[in-house]
Amino acid sequence: MAKGQTALSHEFDFGSHLRAQGIKPLYKRTIETVQVNLGRRCNQMCTHCHVAAGPDRREVMPRAVVEQIVRLIEASPGVKTVDLTGGAPELHPEFTALIRAVRSLGRKVIVRSNLTVHTEAGMEEMGEFLGTQGVEITASLPCYTESNVDQQRGDGTFERSIETLTRFNRLGYGRPDSKLVLNLVYNPGGPFLPGPQATLEQAYKEELGNRYGILFNHLYTITNMPINRFAEKLAQADQETTYMSMLVDTFNPKTVDEVMCKTLVSVDWQGKLYDCDFNQVLDLPSKLTEGRPRSDVFALESLADFKGCPISTGPHCFGCTAGAGSSCVGALQ
Ligand code: SF4
Ligand code: SF4
Repeated sequence: MAKGQTALSHEFDFGSHLRAQGIKPLYKRTIETVQVNLGRRCNQMCTHCHVAAGPDRREVMPRAVVEQIVRLIEASPGVKTVDLTGGAPELHPEFTALIRAVRSLGRKVIVRSNLTVHTEAGMEEMGEFLGTQGVEITASLPCYTESNVDQQRGDGTFERSIETLTRFNRLGYGRPDSKLVLNLVYNPGGPFLPGPQATLEQAYKEELGNRYGILFNHLYTITNMPINRFAEKLAQADQETTYMSMLVDTFNPKTVDEVMCKTLVSVDWQGKLYDCDFNQVLDLPSKLTEGRPRSDVFALESLADFKGCPISTGPHCFGCTAGAGSSCVGALQ
């Protein structure tokens, strides 16, 4: 059984489901986004965290891997965006050096921030650095109410998140007259699909604007994936089959063409290559390096090699294709 998956989830075969619907299996197109998971260290320990990050985790991407990723991006003109994630990517010792290197190649950088890390000691200048480099910030805020956020992400999280968002707004982020982009991410607080993205975005803008004067660009709604901590929670509540059945019952064939893995490659903290962050968590490696002596970034000369490669799928893929679909930039439809 793949790491993080449960026995029940094996009842749900994504590949067979596609075939039964007359839909072709998933293949890679030109890689446009490289998602780099810099490690598992995080100042938080959220219940839904699909990488099970936390303050006690010690996995940190080595410098040699960071440098090879920069070389690969340089050798891959199709790559437009580098998406930094973790853990809290801001805690990585090479974080600022990596951003400088990628920006000097003229590629866009997105940082996935939990916001609260910016209130930790030593992070006072980080927001300004990100603004100077023109880095896009995508920040988790699972609700606009204090009680819901604190319940999911820990006591005091909401207040610290608002403090950071206020600071980002002051630097120009999220303002209509600025190029600095600040997006927020919503994920449901339980075993249900997110509501319509546009409606939730409007509600967030009204609530955060009226109560705290917060401005942001877009809200991304993301489905909770039935893996790792969230899968454990489902299993404890005996809701795993119900949740998986709901994802399968709401399968939307129109989302399949848009799933993010077709144009994205995910790299773990050791440099191993995956079709997406979720496959990384499940240790379901990319098929590109099958049979090669190495399965990491040092196995490649360019990310263009991925074009046409079949994508590794599993039951968790129903999480990307349920309802309006889900990706690292929110709903697919
Ligand atoms: S802030 Fe993000 S990376 Fe950190 S524990 Fe929460 S979900 Fe995981
Ligand atoms: S989980 Fe989603 S992004 Fe990952 S391989 Fe499956 S469909 Fe693609």
